[in-house]
Amino acid sequence: MKEALALFAKEISSPKKIFITTHVKPDADALGSSLGLANYLIKKGHDVCVVTPSDYPSFLNWMEGNESVLDFSHPDQVDQVKKKLEEAEVIFCLDFSVLNRVNELGELIRASDAFVVNIDHHQDPEDFADFRIWSTKAAATCELVYEMIVDLGDKDLIDKGIAECLYAGIMTDTGGFRHPNTTKNVHLVVAELLELGADTSQIANWIYDSNSVNRLKFIGFAISRRLVVREDLHLAYFAISKKDLKKYQSQTGDTEGLVNYALSLEGIKVAALFSEREDGIKISFRSCTDVAVNKFAAAYFNGGGHKNAAGGKSELGLKETVQLFESLIEEHQEELYHPKPVSV
Ligand code: 5GP
Ligand code: MN
Repeated sequence: MKEALALFAKEISSPKKIFITTHVKPDADALGSSLGLANYLIKKGHDVCVVTPSDYPSFLNWMEGNESVLDFSHPDQVDQVKKKLEEAEVIFCLDFSVLNRVNELGELIRASDAFVVNIDHHQDPEDFADFRIWSTKAAATCELVYEMIVDLGDKDLIDKGIAECLYAGIMTDTGGFRHPNTTKNVHLVVAELLELGADTSQIANWIYDSNSVNRLKFIGFAISRRLVVREDLHLAYFAISKKDLKKYQSQTGDTEGLVNYALSLEGIKVAALFSEREDGIKISFRSCTDVAVNKFAAAYFNGGGHKNAAGGKSELGLKETVQLFESLIEEHQEELYHPKPVSV
């Protein structure tokens, strides 16, 4: 076992009070890595609590342990979460590496005396953890959690419930094994998860085939009425207003995946989705293999993420945000579409 991992293994060698959290609006990798890890740590005898900074889509609520997740944005659960955080001896931060991704929980974690562990695969991590398992080569945080459990010598503790949580994160973060992050290691890990009992077609069904009629109609509306294509800029985007979301009784998760329809257009290099939320404009960026949108998101929209899938936010109005975005792409298209090779 590596030296750093041995130190960490020592930290969790006796039963501890453990607090696990992940980024706001958790996706399958965020929730799957949190619950997969939680179920494992419970088996090891720890007292474990999983907290999300916000709610998450209902298509994730099949994961083992889902019923005990606490939501810090829920007024009735705030005190309970604060108490759990105060009591915590070990805090795991999963699938994010900058503390502003967990809203107000971030500063509470920074101020905590607990041993903080960060497991993540995003670029440019902030230095807030006592121990970090971090690799941008990993397709998903779930892949890193799987490898950590194996490295700790506990593969035999991975049961069907844990395997399914971890599989879900890898499946979605690789875009259903289509993105360039779908490495040989991804397939090897997934093969093991199948062997350990993950029912892959059931998981795909739970995640991809659980649309409401409203959501499907919303997607149809967005594609026919809210898609803007700027072929001259190799750009396509959706701008969705609060009113649009209300009209289709939008639920958390209903806009997920919409941006991919814009990227699926031939010749499009950058796709975006702007959705007007209570606290400002939430932005999703996607790009073709050669174009890096995470740097663009970080430079102009207070965001970040992966090379081909990033996000950000804007405090301007929807129209102003979209105008700014178009002009930024126009201005920076040369460096975006023809980046200078990095000298090694
Ligand atoms: P999505 O578009 O699916 O919400 O996010 C795509 C990727 O960008 C995810 O890896 C997510 O973690 C990252 N991301 C989304 N929003 C933000 C943000 O506001 N800040 C940072 N640093 N990353 C983000
Ligand atoms: Mn992830």
